[in-house]
This record gives sequence, C-alpha cells and structure tokens, in this order.
Amino acid sequence: MGFPRQILLLGPPGAGKGTQAKRLSRELGLAYCSTGSVLRREETRPTELGAEIHGFLKEGHFVPDELVLKIVYHWLQAVRAEFVLDGFPRTLAQGSALDAFLAESERPAATAIYLDVPDEVLESRVSRRVCCDPCGNVWVRGEAPPKCPDCDGLVGPRGDDSLDLYRSRLAEYQNKTLPLLPYYEGHARLRRISGEGSPTEVFTRMMTALQP
Ligand SMILES: [Zn+2]
Repeated sequence: MGFPRQILLLGPPGAGKGTQAKRLSRELGLAYCSTGSVLRREETRPTELGAEIHGFLKEGHFVPDELVLKIVYHWLQAVRAEFVLDGFPRTLAQGSALDAFLAESERPAATAIYLDVPDEVLESRVSRRVCCDPCGNVWVRGEAPPKCPDCDGLVGPRGDDSLDLYRSRLAEYQNKTLPLLPYYEGHARLRRISGEGSPTEVFTRMMTALQP
C-alpha cells in the first residue's frame, strides 16, 4: 500500500488548501485542479455562464452543485489521471456525487484531508494576502513578486478577500461544507490535520497523515 492517489483538500477559505494541494500534486505526481480558480476564470468571460457565476460569487455565495459538478466531471474525464482537488467538494451533495462518479468509473474512492485553522488566524491571514487569480498562487503582502512566476499573471488582492465578503464565505462554508467531515469520517476516509504554521510545516504534517 502506498500513499492515497485521489485526494481532496478540505478546509475553510484561507486555510492554505491551494498551496498544499499544488505541493502534493508535485510531490506525488497527481493532476491538480482548483475549482475556485476555474470558476473565477469562467466568471470573467463574457458568456452567460460567466454572468451566472459572477452573480453567486459577488455575494459570497457558493455556486450551485449542478454547475460545479459539471465543471469537475468535465475535468476528471479530460485528465483521466489520479488527482488532487482543491475547493471541491463543498457540499454533502457534491461529495456523494463524486463518490458515485468514481464508483461508476471503477476508480478507488478519494481520501479527504481537512486543514483545521481557527477563525481568528484565518481572518488575519486573509487580510494580509495577495494572489494570482488565474492560477491561485498566494503570497503575503510585501513578499509577492509583481508577476506570477508560474503563469505570468498579475499579482494583487483577490476580489473576494474583503473582510465582510470573507465572513460571508466562512459562514457559508460552516453551513454547507462542515457536514462533509462526519461523512468522510464515517467512511474512514478523513485525515484531519492542523493547518497552522508555515506551509512547509503543514506539508510535513500532511505527508505524515497520508502515510499508509
Ligand atoms: Zn499564476
């Protein structure tokens, strides 16, 4: 038995899921998808879908399950590889839909990692961070390069990072995403770790928790 190779990064907004998921994908050779980045990219397009997504995101609401599932299934079918997903699933309905999808495709069930970070730590992180929208890379203000080294995108505060908007995303997360924890725990597929400390500390903790 090796490391799990279909991994979901769960945790509140600002917990560092993107940073950890990318590192995990490099370390274990897994395909990486951030549903948040995909949605934000779609949002800026002059399409009906873009306008629809913008309507949800600007209020700090979740995008409906149906729309997110369409995007994720499309991605999973296109990559046909083992994966790490960041920002998905966000609801119980998405989690059970993913299980059904993987079972139908005769793929193993995914393992969930939960990054646990206290609310007050999250708020202070969010108020200090800047990011690259297209790829989701994150830096602390003052330490960021002017352009993203990965995709050449502009680095700046993320539109959905104002504190009020952040709090409404956090409330939505607590209502809709937290119920996934007992779901994965019940299936013995949850690894819960602390998301506090430096990215390297968290990553080391995560690899230890994933060890077979
Ligand atoms: Zn970038």
